[in-house]
Amino acid sequence: MPKRASSDRWRIAPRAKLDLAALDAGSKAGAPGDKAATRMVSAELRARLDDLQARLYAEGSRSLLLVLQGMDAGGKDGTIRSVFAGVNPQGVRVATFKPPTSHELAHDFLWRVHAQAPADGEVTVFNRSHYEDVLVVRVHNLVPEQVWRGRYAHIRAFEQLLHDEGTTIVKVLLHISKEEQRRRLQARLDDPRKRWKFDRADLDERLYWDDYQQAYQDAIIRTTASHAPWYVVPGDRNWYRDWAVLSILVKTLERMDPQFPEAPAGIEGLIVP
Ligand code: ATP
Ligand code: MG
Repeated sequence: MPKRASSDRWRIAPRAKLDLAALDAGSKAGAPGDKAATRMVSAELRARLDDLQARLYAEGSRSLLLVLQGMDAGGKDGTIRSVFAGVNPQGVRVATFKPPTSHELAHDFLWRVHAQAPADGEVTVFNRSHYEDVLVVRVHNLVPEQVWRGRYAHIRAFEQLLHDEGTTIVKVLLHISKEEQRRRLQARLDDPRKRWKFDRADLDERLYWDDYQQAYQDAIIRTTASHAPWYVVPGDRNWYRDWAVLSILVKTLERMDPQFPEAPAGIEGLIVP
């Protein structure tokens, strides 16, 4: 029996039941030890990720897309900083999705997203993504219900296309509790180094917490697939979250098993003069 990958713990299987409210955002389940011990394991995973990324880049024929979603102050920025700290910046690209410009809004919702999809050999991180078009857009009725409801099928088709053309897709919800969001927003007010991140609009958005949870739950259930799985990662503890996302990425890349290309014929034994 193959050992059950620890990353399976957070994966949402197709047709599985999902109750976000029942998932403990402060969970430490499966962690290799306490905070210090887990951080040591994360350091090893970072080195492993660096090696796997180098292979993917050298192989140059497939790509990896990490979709990161979460509530305001959910830890997307911190996760990216921590998880990719040991990786060659040339092989990783972060695409951040803000509210669409009028030019972007004049196109279909996937237009700006598709343009950011990873090229062969690349690892691309979506900091927010096309999922905003069934999350914030749904919560605030930015388009008619019939339109956002139709988008789940468009998202599934889009991700199937990327998959069929050589992109491995991993989608992660950083799941924080409402109380943890309160703490983090308060810290943005109180800490001069974090104040620039404070956005008054986040306080208004917080009032829609339950609507967002419902929108996330529906989006995950409707779009998790074996070729584009959703993972719900408990996000209240940064050290646990970082280890979890690192574990998911390393496991995914190990399954891809990227290889350095074969040496071209005729260079065996060649000496550089
Ligand atoms: P943090 O979590 O640290 O606050 P952030 O991701 O919220 O960072 P911001 O610049 O504060 O970064 O917010 C980006 C905003 O863009 C979010 O409020 C998000 O809902 C909004 N957004 C992204 N994509 C879309 C979209 N397609 N339609 C409408 N709003 C969108
Ligand atoms: Mg924000």
